[in-house]
Amino acid sequence: MKRALTLLVTLACVAMTGEPASAYLKLGTRVGAGTVNLRWQDFPVRYFITNAAGGGVSAAQLRDAVDRAFDSWTSIETASISAEFAGFTQARPNDDDGLTVIGFLNQPDQDRTLGATSFLVDTLSGEIVEAEIYLNSFFSWSVASAGEANRFDVESIALHEIGHLFGLGHSALGETELRSGGRRVLAAEAVMFPIAFSAGSIAGRTLRADDIAGISEIYPSNVYRRERGSISGRITKASQGVLGAHVVAFNLRTGKLVGGFSLNQDGSFVIAGLEAGAHALRVEPLDDGDVESFFDLTLNIDVNFRARFHDRIVVVPRGGGTSDVQIRVEPK
Ligand SMILES: [Zn+2]
Repeated sequence: MKRALTLLVTLACVAMTGEPASAYLKLGTRVGAGTVNLRWQDFPVRYFITNAAGGGVSAAQLRDAVDRAFDSWTSIETASISAEFAGFTQARPNDDDGLTVIGFLNQPDQDRTLGATSFLVDTLSGEIVEAEIYLNSFFSWSVASAGEANRFDVESIALHEIGHLFGLGHSALGETELRSGGRRVLAAEAVMFPIAFSAGSIAGRTLRADDIAGISEIYPSNVYRRERGSISGRITKASQGVLGAHVVAFNLRTGKLVGGFSLNQDGSFVIAGLEAGAHALRVEPLDDGDVESFFDLTLNIDVNFRARFHDRIVVVPRGGGTSDVQIRVEPK
């Protein structure tokens, strides 16, 4: 009972389903009426690098940048994950070979997609058996420490794709403006925001609080269980639950932002992975990216309401949760 799920990412859309029990958007696969989160069971994740240059970057340079990106994820103390470089290979990403392969692939027809991650998953358990990442060598790439004009940063895009590889979906913590030719990112508080910074930028090399909360919720370490807390509640409009509302927790002491979504018809949300302390909550419609970058289009996501702050400060306990936060929104 295995099937391949192909997830296009970064500048393209992702088909996914949200897990109703939890607010951070994780990759899920539907099993019967329910959703199973995708996760690895065996660590370290062993990855191969395709022995081929692409977009102006050699295979050895790609390996170094990918190693740094893995290190960023695996050094998070609240998440129990590890990864190991297994060697160079002639295999390409997307070969059906049972190997986890990362490499360049020329995909000129995918001229809006910088990279993509695909999986082989056990659809009963949600276990990820194999994952593949390609970076599209149709584009020009760079591994320069300060970035290079008109070239996309390998480490930044690899960091985003590796987040998918571990089972994370997209975060909505970003601001964009519409321009001819697409959306331009003005700011992003998550590496897992679906749209990349412009060519030349290296802003995507650093994981943010939202990314760290998301990965830690899937693979919680003992530190996570002891130290982090959550906020849960319900978003309603005219007494009805709102599906797909983006809820953002702002830590008043550190300024860190962690987002989540209401993921079912009654408007329930959970934001986990929060540091203890006082938080302000803001609810907003999903309007800085295409809805299909976040949700399965069969879901009826409500974007017709005005953004607002919750009228109370919410205090998150260490290792515990604050529940039953009720926030009412008004139609636009
Ligand atoms: Zn993505």
